[in-house]
Amino acid sequence: AKAGGRNTYRFYTEELTRAAQERLALEAALRRALERNELVVHYQPVVSVATGHMIAVEALVRWNHPQEGLVSPLRFVPVAEDTGLIIPLGAWVLRAACRQGRRWLDSGRLLSVAVNLSSRQFADDNLVDMVRETLAETDFPARLLTLELTESTIMTRPDQAIEMLGRLKALGVKLSIDDFGTGYSSLAYLKRFPVDTLKIDRSFVADIVDDEDDRMIVAAVVVMARQLRLNVIAEGVENADQFDYLNRIGCAACQGYLFGKPVPADELPPD
Ligand code: C2E
Ligand code: CA
Ligand code: CA
Ligand code: CA
Repeated sequence: AKAGGRNTYRFYTEELTRAAQERLALEAALRRALERNELVVHYQPVVSVATGHMIAVEALVRWNHPQEGLVSPLRFVPVAEDTGLIIPLGAWVLRAACRQGRRWLDSGRLLSVAVNLSSRQFADDNLVDMVRETLAETDFPARLLTLELTESTIMTRPDQAIEMLGRLKALGVKLSIDDFGTGYSSLAYLKRFPVDTLKIDRSFVADIVDDEDDRMIVAAVVVMARQLRLNVIAEGVENADQFDYLNRIGCAACQGYLFGKPVPADELPPD
């Protein structure tokens, strides 16, 4: 080791310890947040390109922290996944979203609701029962619920994923592949996954106006989805130029700040 290696080592140990302690503190706080009902679900519109109407919403969890205000899921979902807290947290989000979907239905709004599932939930033996019980308890129609799984979640063990996706489909829910394009789906598998929708990752949409490669990728996914009879949603649509291009290539649905940010249920714009 070089001179000073020992100090460097100590420095790293302290840093690691601090990081580990912060994580532990965050985990404990998150556990309390769940018990104290500090989590909230916001909803973001998914819009039909043909009609301009909102056809669905995506449920996105936030932590309404008593001191810090709204905390992004990017800060706490990864910790919840590592610690296993995502299992009760994810069940809570699903229940909240189905109850809200039921409320919309009761007020005459036919909105499909999409809920994110983490890879840890997808590997949980209890998942199918949990979804079935939540639908029954909230009296929300299965056909109006979409479960979103990332491409990497299902491509980790594709053969097991096919079986699990089949069991979820059998409940009558819809399935979509989230962040599509960021993982490594082979076309062979894509055909075998019993999914309904591909959500094109926002990193591709971000550059479609300037980047020829991204334009080609998005156009190819739209064509492929059509061939495979899958719905497609472009994520992260922020401006009219992006929307015009997506419209031109026949992308049927869009989601993004151009149509609305995630908001509490009572602030959702009219369909
Ligand atoms: P995601 O599932 O890909 O969700 C879309 C994210 O993109 C959301 O971030 C949304 O606010 C953001 N977004 C939507 N439109 C635009 C846009 O036009 N521009 C930009 N720059 N961003 C846009 P959010 O709410 O911060 O969620 C981040 C991630 O956290 C989600 O990515 C998802 O992976 C995870 N997440 C959120 N809620 C849940 C949940 O209930 N369960 C699980 N397992 N994960 C969740
Ligand atoms: Ca999602
Ligand atoms: Ca996504
Ligand atoms: Ca690019």
